[in-house]
Amino acid sequence: MFNNKKEIIAHTPTRMCVVCRKRDSKNNFIRVVKNKRGDIFIDKSFKAQGRGAYICKNKDCLLLLKKNKGFNRSFKCEISDELYQALKGEIETLD
Ligand SMILES: [Zn+2]
Repeated sequence: MFNNKKEIIAHTPTRMCVVCRKRDSKNNFIRVVKNKRGDIFIDKSFKAQGRGAYICKNKDCLLLLKKNKGFNRSFKCEISDELYQALKGEIETLD
């Protein structure tokens, strides 16, 4: 029984926000993927192939994202305004 907690952690892989570096389960994040063609997009299925990075579903992290350049670092390229707009749209629908 005393191993219970360890097992729960092992079965719940954590993701990390590129802005605030908070770790949590993927349900609390928006996943953004860069695929092999170099397209960067929001992955609502969490299953798209490619390099993934995560941001918290909240406006604070979104507002800091552009300055922080977390996705630029994760994907090693510039992030388009379209993607920032799309993320903003995603987060605004959560209210
Ligand atoms: Zn965050």
